[in-house]
Amino acid sequence: MRKWLIAGNWKMNLTANSARALIADLRKDLDRDAAVLARDRDIMIAPPAVIIPAAAQALAGSSIALGAQNMHFEDKGAFTGEISAPMLSQFGVSHVILGHSERRHIFGEGDDLINRKVLSALKNRLSPILCVGETEQERDRGNTLSVVLGQLERGLAAVNDQSERVTVAYEPVWAIGTGRNATPEQAQEVHGAIREALRDLFGHQAADTLRILYGGSVTPENVDSLVSKPDIDGALVGGASLKAESFARIVRARRA
Ligand code: PEP
Repeated sequence: MRKWLIAGNWKMNLTANSARALIADLRKDLDRDAAVLARDRDIMIAPPAVIIPAAAQALAGSSIALGAQNMHFEDKGAFTGEISAPMLSQFGVSHVILGHSERRHIFGEGDDLINRKVLSALKNRLSPILCVGETEQERDRGNTLSVVLGQLERGLAAVNDQSERVTVAYEPVWAIGTGRNATPEQAQEVHGAIREALRDLFGHQAADTLRILYGGSVTPENVDSLVSKPDIDGALVGGASLKAESFARIVRARRA
């Protein structure tokens, strides 16, 4: 059985102080059940880069993993304003979200750039969470699977022996931050197609091990029905990860 991953993407929210308070509240809620939760799910939060050192301190001794929201594909160099995988690793970051729709649509990141980041993350022993997803217009035109599978294949080009460390997040663009989540059936259709494509890319064993998260307006109310689908292995949560109570409830998701 695949372990779920419940991951919080804080985006550009919180300060070091409010992040410490949120982590303390989360730990108060989740640490007492850490051993039980850890049997079948991993938990991760991805604060803004500048907050990572404070978050790392606040998470010391906890089983909640630390993620980053983005990184550059080079380890170092003249790339003003960027951060690299070795810089993240030094603070105990284990995962990095790559190709989030906000990076693609606001900052113009394309599949080739995202692929370089995925390869750099793997080279530096970080676990990349590759985000893929269609816009509303692409869905309305019937292009959902071609868009998503194209992003997947290009994003994972040249990933070979380390494929089991990759996580994929299916995040329909029209569902992110809108309060309109994909139905469990809509999500499962895409997750199933992603799993099939992963089989073609990496073989059955890797495809059956690799986690495919759903993201897009996940809440305590809809998470149970989403993770009840066979190919949905957890959630990437934006807005609802900013409150300890709602994120902890999502972490405690149960199959319906
Ligand atoms: C996200 O940013 O990855 C996301 C899914 O956001 P939200 O949960 O707010 O829709």
